[in-house]
Amino acid sequence: MRILIVEDEPTLREGLRDLLLAAGHEVVVSELGQPAVELGTRETFDLVVLDLMLPDIDGVEVCRRLRRARPTLPVLMLTARSSEDDKVAGLRAGADDYLTKPFSVRELLARVEAFGRRAGASPTEPELIEVDGCTLDLGRLTARRGSQEVALTPREAGILRWLHRHRARAVTRAELLERIWGSSAELQTRTVDMTIANLRQKIERDPAEPRIVRTVTGAGYAWGDAGDG
Ligand code: CA
Repeated sequence: MRILIVEDEPTLREGLRDLLLAAGHEVVVSELGQPAVELGTRETFDLVVLDLMLPDIDGVEVCRRLRRARPTLPVLMLTARSSEDDKVAGLRAGADDYLTKPFSVRELLARVEAFGRRAGASPTEPELIEVDGCTLDLGRLTARRGSQEVALTPREAGILRWLHRHRARAVTRAELLERIWGSSAELQTRTVDMTIANLRQKIERDPAEPRIVRTVTGAGYAWGDAGDG
């Protein structure tokens, strides 16, 4: 697996890196939260090992920001605290699992291996999606129709990924706000509509008659089924 370690404490950071390298993983480290968000958004990882307490932005916020760009990126949160509140906050922000310091080497490796098994057991989500004559490359943040290629924002790619992942059903505006923007009271559902209107201009054959991001009256949005396997 390709693993991003976010930990400000040098001894633990280097220890984790050496351990995971030794276990055969490819490892990238970050000592601060903001660079980790940028790395995790720009590059592809199979797992993020994320410390809760960081000097710039805390792990919960790092997790929230990463999830906006990459809703399915697995996150293992590390914390020195063990109160239920911290766990709830971390898991709400999208962490998949939790490990309280101090933890044993064996415990950490077992958790990391569990993520690897999960990734191997379930088919990985496609980063390249062909739909209605449009090629969406969600890893590179591009959409190509014929010879014309346009850039997608991380948020647009996040919306497409989320809709495609849940293509069996309609997705509400509130759900998109929570999962792609992170729950923010000041944001309104109109924000979703405006973002999707822009996205349609980029990817739809005819934005007035969208076939990739369909409107579901009274519900929200759904992935179009035109030509998608
Ligand atoms: Ca720390």
